[in-house]
Amino acid sequence: MIDIENVSKTYRTPQGDVAALRDVSLHVRSGEIFGAIGRSGSGKTTLIRCINRLETIDQGRIRVGGEEITSMAEAELRRKRRKIGMIFQHFHLLRNDTVRQNVALPLRHSTLGRRERADKVHELLDVVGLGDRASAYPSQLSGGQRQRVAIARALANDPEILLCDEATSALDPETTVSILALLRDVNRSLGLTILLITHEMSVVKDICDRVAVLHAGEVAEVGTTADVFARPRHEATQQFSRSLFDDDGATAALETPLVEGIAASGGFVARLLFVGEEANAATISRLSRSYGVDLSVVYGTVRVLHGVLVGCLYVAFDGPPDRLAAAADDLRARGVGLDVVAGTHPRRAVA
Ligand code: ADP
Ligand code: MG
Repeated sequence: MIDIENVSKTYRTPQGDVAALRDVSLHVRSGEIFGAIGRSGSGKTTLIRCINRLETIDQGRIRVGGEEITSMAEAELRRKRRKIGMIFQHFHLLRNDTVRQNVALPLRHSTLGRRERADKVHELLDVVGLGDRASAYPSQLSGGQRQRVAIARALANDPEILLCDEATSALDPETTVSILALLRDVNRSLGLTILLITHEMSVVKDICDRVAVLHAGEVAEVGTTADVFARPRHEATQQFSRSLFDDDGATAALETPLVEGIAASGGFVARLLFVGEEANAATISRLSRSYGVDLSVVYGTVRVLHGVLVGCLYVAFDGPPDRLAAAADDLRARGVGLDVVAGTHPRRAVA
């Protein structure tokens, strides 16, 4: 539905050039919720603005619904933009217009008659749960309600995609959950493709089918949400992954005498990331038995990433170096991510 191929974009400023996107390629499939996560300045907003050609690109090609945006003439582009819905962090509603008028705004070019338009607006407000607030002004609504109005407005012309730029970043956690649930509902009921851009893990972890991590204008990683954060390869992804699993408890657990003792006696403590069924302490005790080493879980967290269980366990490895290395290799061979966080990882003795 969205094909981004080798796109580069540099802003020319008096202070110098800023390479906002560097050779970005991404493919968003029809009907999916695709997340792009990155820290501030990683190029997220630029990416979205290039997709509806609010910014021109220096290199590459962007197609939406099979149509090339890059080379489109102005009139055609205006028609196309109506099929690209967009919502923003600060809602961008017209403050002097009622909810009804805000939602009706994109219909001003529509071929629908007066009556049909009114019906359409009503229908859209029902979809977002604001059927009874049509005559209110934005200032009379909460942040979550304002974003609902913006969603209704974005859906007015039956778009093929919905672009969301930090759409929940101005909302509290509970309201965020309700807006994300609404986005998932419209994704399912309308088959709407959604590209969601954010700097927050909490936004991508539940609703995104797939996710890309942006870092300094580049795509660091792409994959299913569980895979990307359970097997983070790029440093930027590792940071997001840690933010998901690590809390005060993890920090405290690593400062205990047990952990310090293990490190001093030649063992080590590793942070393990498991996907699916294996994400539990039973896996660790099995491994402990089969290699004749002492493995103990120091701390653990389990999260559900888009319906997939992902576990993070801090495990102390104690025993003969050779066997510890073999146990660690076994885990790695099974696709378990393993990072030594205290002590040193023993090399297996060369036979
Ligand atoms: P994000 O949305 O991930 O925070 P942006 O796409 O807004 O990132 O910005 C990416 C980079 O491009 C940043 O370094 C930012 O300072 C720069 N940038 C964004 N917009 C402009 C602009 N209009 N002119 C110059 N530099 C810009
Ligand atoms: Mg931005």
